[in-house]
Amino acid sequence: ARHLTALQSTATSFPKSHAKLAKPEDTPYFIDNQFVSSTSTEFIEVHDPATNELVTRVPQSTDEELNAAVDSAAKAFPAWKATSNMARQQIMFKYVGLIKENWDRLAASITLEQGKTFADAKGDVLRGLQVAEAACGAPELLKGEVLEVAKDMETRSYKEPLGVVAAICPFNFPAMIPLWCIPIATVTGNTLILKPSERDPGAAMILAELAEKAGFPPGVINIVHGTKKTVNFILDNPTIKAISFVGSNPAGEYIFSRGSANGKRVQANLGAKNHAAVLPDCNKNHFLNAVTGAAFGAAGQRCMALSTLVMVGETRDWLPEVAERAKALQMNGGFEEGADLGPVISPQSKARIEELIASAESEGAKILLDGRGFKPQKYPNGNWVGPTIITNVTPNMRCYREEIFGPVLVCLNAETLDEAIDMINSNEYGNGTAIFTKSGATAETFRRNIEAGQVGINVPIPVPLPMFSFTGNKKSIAGGGASTFYGRPGINFYTQQKTVTALWQSSDAISKKADVAMPTIN
Ligand code: NAD
Repeated sequence: ARHLTALQSTATSFPKSHAKLAKPEDTPYFIDNQFVSSTSTEFIEVHDPATNELVTRVPQSTDEELNAAVDSAAKAFPAWKATSNMARQQIMFKYVGLIKENWDRLAASITLEQGKTFADAKGDVLRGLQVAEAACGAPELLKGEVLEVAKDMETRSYKEPLGVVAAICPFNFPAMIPLWCIPIATVTGNTLILKPSERDPGAAMILAELAEKAGFPPGVINIVHGTKKTVNFILDNPTIKAISFVGSNPAGEYIFSRGSANGKRVQANLGAKNHAAVLPDCNKNHFLNAVTGAAFGAAGQRCMALSTLVMVGETRDWLPEVAERAKALQMNGGFEEGADLGPVISPQSKARIEELIASAESEGAKILLDGRGFKPQKYPNGNWVGPTIITNVTPNMRCYREEIFGPVLVCLNAETLDEAIDMINSNEYGNGTAIFTKSGATAETFRRNIEAGQVGINVPIPVPLPMFSFTGNKKSIAGGGASTFYGRPGINFYTQQKTVTALWQSSDAISKKADVAMPTIN
């Protein structure tokens, strides 16, 4: 069967323009290593955000399809669990190779459906690929512990897979977030049901195709589609043991509480409002470039976008220079040469961002750079919002309290470092933060006192590489941050510990009387 554009493509031949597709095909689901057309009558349209032309339709998976996916994953689990670690590692090596070969194809699918520039989409793939590469080290990471706890007695621990697990993904990183889940869930011996964002499923579908080519057996990775109905099915299905979620607070808080109430493990990364404290002693040119890139790159649609500046002392006078650098950015279709930022995901998102900018104006803030109303000539129908800078913001304003998730930089003023730290800590979110300074002592004070979970020192987007873990804090992660994505905590999330205590020789072998008291240490 012929399907989605992304799937009709190959590693060397794929659509790399915003030209209207002659015949958009519906997205299939993926079960038992096969792409299957849904029998659903309910579809969600996916549009190219640069043109609003139809790219594909995503089915709302039917109950039958959802149950079939769980059955497939449950059926595949015993043999996959019994597959040796080294055999699973070999498949992961092959998967890594195939992702590299299909890197541009994956990125092109992201640019077409999500809107980010092709160069940025390649980074989206890279950050996921790195998790797959790190997952190749699973045999080392899965090693247990052993200790001789008493004479002739030892305790040893194992990390065993949970069974069928599920992942629910957001729209803003169509490759990276599925790849936070697929490699670690499967290399640890689980089977996985993944629901991509209904707004841009193409990259996840290509990743499924590559998984089959890498040698994952049928049922180890299944893909279902839809919105709340699919999520509710995942939350309530008793076969599914754990859920990984990345997305907004309303969805994530609901998923965390209902999934947990149903006895499942849930890891959930949520929204953000990432601040930078800017100190007068910093390298100003570095600050100007770093902030401009981190605030407006990906049209501000990154959970670690640097969306809020706290300008300490005289640094508030630097904002016109930030505006100059922002103005120099080229907003255009993501496939266009030289494009720095693409459109936002949907007309609704554009309207919401513009409404938040207007609210700042009416609450007394100043719009230093206004990106409203701008359109690249070639793409008049896209969801465009240009780089926008709002100054003289105070913490009570809506543009400060709400996650904007667009190319909008909100700027507040502080007199001292302590005031900046208090202001940042007063915000409910705690995903990431950054400080710009040349002083080691200032940076250390900031690091020690700041509550956000990921701190950059002269680094605007401090997302840890996969040998560490993604450690957001406060309202940016559900469950108090007990379960974080990738790294050793990721391995722990997807495994159950089993400890075995063995006695190899015993004086009991000759004694005739049972000992009934709790054993004491000797
Ligand atoms: P979203 O919450 O709208 O959607 C995420 C997923 O949840 C999708 O698969 C969607 O189908 C599902 N969903 C949406 N509403 C639902 C509901 N009411 N009930 C059940 N399921 C629902 O998020 P999004 O707009 O796709 O992504 C952007 C958000 O994700 C931002 O808030 C961003 O900060 C956050 N994000 C966080 C991280 C992180 O690691 N902290 C990373 C990426 C994105």
